[in-house]
Amino acid sequence: MKNSNIWNYAYFCIIMRIDIITVLPELLESPLSHSIVKRARTGSLVQIVIHDLKAYGKGKYRQTDDYAFGGDAGMVMMIEPVYKLLEDLKKERSYDEILYTSPDGEPFSQKEANRLSCLQNIIILCGHYKGIDQRIRDHLITKEISIGDYVLSGGELAAAVITDAVVRLLPGALTDETSALTDSFQDGLLAPPIYTRPADFMGWKVPEILLSGDPVKIRNWQEEKSLDRTERLRPDLIDTDNRD
Ligand code: SAH
Repeated sequence: MKNSNIWNYAYFCIIMRIDIITVLPELLESPLSHSIVKRARTGSLVQIVIHDLKAYGKGKYRQTDDYAFGGDAGMVMMIEPVYKLLEDLKKERSYDEILYTSPDGEPFSQKEANRLSCLQNIIILCGHYKGIDQRIRDHLITKEISIGDYVLSGGELAAAVITDAVVRLLPGALTDETSALTDSFQDGLLAPPIYTRPADFMGWKVPEILLSGDPVKIRNWQEEKSLDRTERLRPDLIDTDNRD
């Protein structure tokens, strides 16, 4: 029993920690409380802490945003609450990356998810309204990430996407059946088609080879289909530095 406590303690020391800063914590609760992410949290593979920025807001109304200088429409998230919350977090531990979700950030990719999954402590700041004061971006953020060329109402869904993609890569998060190694992008290619029972549904048949029981032939077929699919749907993935 004593030994197992020691191991539990050692394990606890190396678990990944993701702090997410938001003005709408409710938006993050459900996406990070189910399936693989839930298992990783309850299995102590990752500690995800959601911080309500309003707790650091100004005055009676816990204000976190204000009008834009220059008269543009839309509210801007203020620097002081973010600065204070970051200072408090940084007093507790050092962070490898302080991310800001932003439509003009680096496009998120499997490669970046892999990189982030190897870090120990990260913060994700979710913007809202018109965005955040540029000084936060210039002085407090270490990297900006976009989840696609469209504009969301807030960074919460983007933070959930990033967190999900990272957490499922942590050793132990996926079972054999859901192994990340056979997923799209992991080897720079899209995943091959997959099938389950029945082998024949109203004449729509599963390819014979998958029923052959020959693992080498099946593997070759999957590789071929993976390549076909990638050439057809995402030729940009072939021969680029996405493949490593
Ligand atoms: N005015 C900004 C958009 C603000 S949208 C602009 O034109 O670039 C409000 C917030 O939603 C942003 O601060 C950001 O945190 C988040 N957001 C919106 N679209 C996003 C995207 N594609 N990827 C990541 N975060 C996004």
